[in-house]
Amino acid sequence: MSMFKDFLHNLFYILTPIFIYVSFWKGVGFHRNRKLTSLFIFLLCLSSMILSMTFPVYIGESTTFDLRHVPLIIGTIYGGWRVGLSLLIAQITYRIAFIGTEGLFLSVYLAFLCFILFYIFSKYHITMSLKRKMIYFMLTLILITSLTFVLPSNRFADNRLEIISYMSESFGVYAVVFSLVIYLIERIRINERLKSDLRKSEQLRLVSELAASVAHEVRNPMTVARGFIQLIHSNANISNNERKYLQLTLSELDRAQSIISDYLSLAKSKKSELQTINITYTLDKVRHTIQAYALMNNVSVYLDVPSQLKINGDEKELTQVILNIAKNAIEAMPEGGSLFLSASHTGQNVRVKIADTGTGMTKEEVNQLGTAYYSTKEKGTGLGLMVSFNIIRSWGGHIQVNSQINKGTEFLITLPTVVEIKDEHETALSSYNS
Ligand code: ADP
Ligand code: MG
Repeated sequence: MSMFKDFLHNLFYILTPIFIYVSFWKGVGFHRNRKLTSLFIFLLCLSSMILSMTFPVYIGESTTFDLRHVPLIIGTIYGGWRVGLSLLIAQITYRIAFIGTEGLFLSVYLAFLCFILFYIFSKYHITMSLKRKMIYFMLTLILITSLTFVLPSNRFADNRLEIISYMSESFGVYAVVFSLVIYLIERIRINERLKSDLRKSEQLRLVSELAASVAHEVRNPMTVARGFIQLIHSNANISNNERKYLQLTLSELDRAQSIISDYLSLAKSKKSELQTINITYTLDKVRHTIQAYALMNNVSVYLDVPSQLKINGDEKELTQVILNIAKNAIEAMPEGGSLFLSASHTGQNVRVKIADTGTGMTKEEVNQLGTAYYSTKEKGTGLGLMVSFNIIRSWGGHIQVNSQINKGTEFLITLPTVVEIKDEHETALSSYNS
């Protein structure tokens, strides 16, 4: 019974820091400061590690068990290698100073394994789904457990059987505790992301409504002005030059009208008519449109698309999305550079990549993308990406952004591909014939 009580205590030391972090640190908004956050994660992990080591679970007279590796691993994954390494050193120092050197080799060996393997794991875990994360987590734990079997057993304990049984039991407990901890942390993170998505879509709604009302108000006086200009234009008593200027004014007014109409159509968030469109054609068109702007900014444009890539969407809107992103890319290369437009098939999806060799962004900046009015440009509106993200999302796709400061940025647009029934029929026929 007392073993169970000890175990619950240990679990308490592990879980409490997670709630402290979420409710106190994130709740107040301190998590935006990266350095302080790393320090805070370190302190939380350190305290739960030391508590766990100081009040372990007594299995036998002299054998104890604790959860000290959980904070070490959590710190390494979510705090980075600096936090992980500091925890590792702290753990070993505390172990030698307060518990003694008996069985030290196993303890140090395990701690090193945890740190190194989970540091490697942390490099990849961000892109994984929750299920995959759990699976890889378990695999890494199994790897660590089995790696303790391969060393000469006299290093650890009196005989191999003893170490195998101890490690297997530890693995069982660790697997359960870890599933719980990782699931909790990841769930909290997913909820946070949902919350911020919700905020963004709420902002979008607000902006759309404002844009719609402004556009509407502007359109009426413009129509009146256009009417009068047309009247003067048709007057026979004006010089040729004046007529030319009036013609120019008219066409500029028309352009303004069409921009406003575009905005209105976006703002109405109508269910756009989706039709099959050829990405190859759209990308080529964007290249032509952007060419002059690129030249002006010393940017070379490269295009690499296979001939038939089709998706369901709206041609005009897709052009707008790719133009938006490509224009941003060119603007991110004030000293010139290269802009790559490419597309490819990946399984069920079509992936469009727009990459630049520009200034790049920090992780925080990437997270801000798509927020209304977020712009770092003097004349920026901070609306382009918000509208683009929204369009792609409404087609069941998504945009991923990878960026490195001073290296460049890539925007990856993933969209469900169109399966052509005719093609399938042909494939079936040809396989039948052969
Ligand atoms: P705007 O272009 O009007 O500023 P956007 O929504 O198009 O608004 O872009 C928002 C911000 O995102 C930009 O101001 C810029 O700071 C950043 N950004 C977008 N694309 C890139 C890129 N390829 N490289 C660097 N920063 C970018
Ligand atoms: Mg822009």
